Amino acid sequence: MVTTSILPENFILDWFDLNQRSFPWRASGGEPPNTYWVWLSEIMLQQTNTTTVQPYFLNFIQKWPTIYDLAGAELDQVLHAWQGLGYYARARNLHKCAKIIVEEFNGEFPEDEKQLLGLPGIGPYTAAAITAIAFELSATPVDGNVERVMARLNNVTKPLPLVKKELIALAKISTPRKRFGDYAQALMDLGATVCVPKKPKCSICPCRSICIGFKAGTPEDLPRRSPKKLMPTRHAKIYFMRNHQNQLFIRRREEKGLLGGMMELPSSEWSVKHFNELDESSLTLGMVKWKQIPNKVKHTFTHFHLEMQVFEGVVEEGTELTGVWCNLRDLNKYAFPSLMKKVLKHSISYLKL
Ligand code: SF4
Repeated sequence: MVTTSILPENFILDWFDLNQRSFPWRASGGEPPNTYWVWLSEIMLQQTNTTTVQPYFLNFIQKWPTIYDLAGAELDQVLHAWQGLGYYARARNLHKCAKIIVEEFNGEFPEDEKQLLGLPGIGPYTAAAITAIAFELSATPVDGNVERVMARLNNVTKPLPLVKKELIALAKISTPRKRFGDYAQALMDLGATVCVPKKPKCSICPCRSICIGFKAGTPEDLPRRSPKKLMPTRHAKIYFMRNHQNQLFIRRREEKGLLGGMMELPSSEWSVKHFNELDESSLTLGMVKWKQIPNKVKHTFTHFHLEMQVFEGVVEEGTELTGVWCNLRDLNKYAFPSLMKKVLKHSISYLKL
């Protein structure tokens, strides 16, 4: 069990005062933080970098300046504005959470970390970040950046994920008794700009004099990681199906599960089986003479790669299907995940539509 840690607070806070990054969601000039902005940015920043998030954040606060506005929006509008950020469960949970905050908490986020953890889309990192940054209360958000800084400062040589708990404990021990929000953001900034994954900039680091990893000589090797398991590849057939008015058949995915609530083209199961063995028993598409579009569409999710073979065809008149017949020029009115956008682009460009 970890009992001591390097205590870098003064080095890091002094450095932060001079070098902090400026983001539209960050309070500046002594203003109090805007809790809605802190929460919104932290949800967007899960699995996404700050450069990508900034225009989305600005668009959201322009469209929905308060949590009341966001709670009153249609889920479809939120999913549409989220397009391109990926991991769409975040957008659904964001909307759900906004409604709960408005309906059950009078529009104010609870200040208690445990209560925050009970809200949709808020995990331990986000709850700690909101507690520290928005409410200036003691909490230690630990993400990949902070893990890396802690592993190097303390020269922790055991590999992740085995050593995750130890790194969290080290981060907690090193959290100061003041300026909780600044310290959390300072660690994020240090990890993102100085103690970067490859070639850490130790020569300009405020912690160089106390960093055991630097003294040991190979901080860039830390944190070590256990070898990754190979990700499986799944296969699917997907159908670009038009009617005689040149409208495309699209439909909404189930609310629960991967890409839940997003629009899609109909497809077979996504399976590790070979293309010829895929189960299509639940697929009802009417009478169509399918033609295969050359080359596959490839996409990688967190836990698997996906290869899709696209088929195109025109359905016979009078076929009843549950979904939407969409004019091609109106496709941008719907929220499609990146995978489906790739399929659409691939098909439209092959068919020269
Ligand atoms: Fe990271 Fe180098 Fe600073 Fe240590 S001295 S915290 S390894 S940048």
